[in-house]
Amino acid sequence: MSACAEMTKRINKMKRLIILGGGESGVGTALLGKAKGYEVFVSDKGKIKDKYKNVLLNNEIEFEDEQHTEIKILNADIVMKSPGIPDKVALVKRIREAGIKVVSEIEFASKFTESILIAITGSNGKTTTATLTHHLLHQDLDVGLAGNIGDSFAKQILEKNHDNYVLEISSFQLDDIIDFKPKIAILTNITPDHLDRYDYKFENYIASKFRVVENQTEDDYFIYDADDEVILEYLKRHQIQSKKLPFSLTKVVDEGAYLDKNNIVITIDNNKIIMPTNNLALEGKHNVKNAMAASTVAHLLKIRKQTIRESLENFNGVEHRLEHVLKINKVQYINDSKATNVNATYFALESMDAPTVWIVGGVDKGNEYRELFPFVNEKVKAIICLGTDNAKLIESFGNMVDVVVETQYMSEAVKIAYKLASAGDNVLLSPACASFDLFENYEDRGRQFKNAVRNL
Ligand code: ADP
Repeated sequence: MSACAEMTKRINKMKRLIILGGGESGVGTALLGKAKGYEVFVSDKGKIKDKYKNVLLNNEIEFEDEQHTEIKILNADIVMKSPGIPDKVALVKRIREAGIKVVSEIEFASKFTESILIAITGSNGKTTTATLTHHLLHQDLDVGLAGNIGDSFAKQILEKNHDNYVLEISSFQLDDIIDFKPKIAILTNITPDHLDRYDYKFENYIASKFRVVENQTEDDYFIYDADDEVILEYLKRHQIQSKKLPFSLTKVVDEGAYLDKNNIVITIDNNKIIMPTNNLALEGKHNVKNAMAASTVAHLLKIRKQTIRESLENFNGVEHRLEHVLKINKVQYINDSKATNVNATYFALESMDAPTVWIVGGVDKGNEYRELFPFVNEKVKAIICLGTDNAKLIESFGNMVDVVVETQYMSEAVKIAYKLASAGDNVLLSPACASFDLFENYEDRGRQFKNAVRNL
């Protein structure tokens, strides 16, 4: 640093930004913070991956890993906490007790952009809806895709400066916002998830999701699932400032999106567009909802009808979400490894149009399987339990399906499925559970499934 820059730094009394967590969002925030004149220190209790360490070293940003040195942290002006770190961690408690402001990456980064922000949250469907929304917008607009997807939002603001951003936002990111204000917010649905981070109180998790609208004004928009009872109940009790654009599969709405036979009808300020669902590349009712939400954004941002229609037709979905892998001997193999809760699996089973061999199991997050019973009775011909503890699955479904098999190996699960399935059937991996007992994560589980299918 030149003597002059050093002097300016002192005169401005650089603010100290501490970043807890040296992953994608942490390192992105570090780069943005440094560029905006903060004195930055990154601290991670775990090991920071080499690729991120190199970025920090190359940019002369101080960091530590496998430890937190409190003396270097508690003198912060502001702390950016990675969404993975719970509030109950002792260090976080001490930071708050010291009166230091704690924010999430989206809060920190959004201060440095005037771009139009489209924030997508919900229990299920965030990645699909965010990716689809980006796909509908990107031909006509300069738009970035960030949040839990790809390069961090902070890094993109620094390096790309797009006019618009589609952001996939978890409740953990929303927990630490202050002024974050998207122009358009989407709430895909709310079902119980991550309750361990919310004192096991569903209402806390609901409130966290609704923070996506808390800074919106009447010039902003709120797009939400009007078939979701939890959302409707909350809206009855709370005032929302923004303009509401609901979407529904079951009822007609004046403003927003609804289904009229095989058409999605979207009305905004008396301006109507109609999109046929017949040619939607994505399958399942949940994906009609996702398409409604994404198309409402596209209509709001004045994307041409023809572009929306074509983009809906050629969007092939996202890996590990009802992903069609291969057809072997007229049996379709489907990878839905991202279904880590019962609600996601509900929509997977609902969308099955043939007898199904279902691979399910993993780490149970307090699952209540009853809502799956009708689909299992109707469509599932065999269940392959793939987990270290399958007792609850066997107890729930043992009497419903003739064949229930257990294994702890994906390759074996797929071989058994191959033997059990006949021409015209589906083999579906939709675990309804987390993957950590047998796999690194859901991507690893999905990739192992696809490899096993390819090796049949
Ligand atoms: P998220 O990012 O919220 O986890 P994804 O788009 O990755 O959501 O999808 C996660 C799982 O939920 C997949 O199994 C997918 O098929 C299913 N899913 C996608 N959209 C919806 C929806 N609107 N409602 C319920 N389940 C959905």
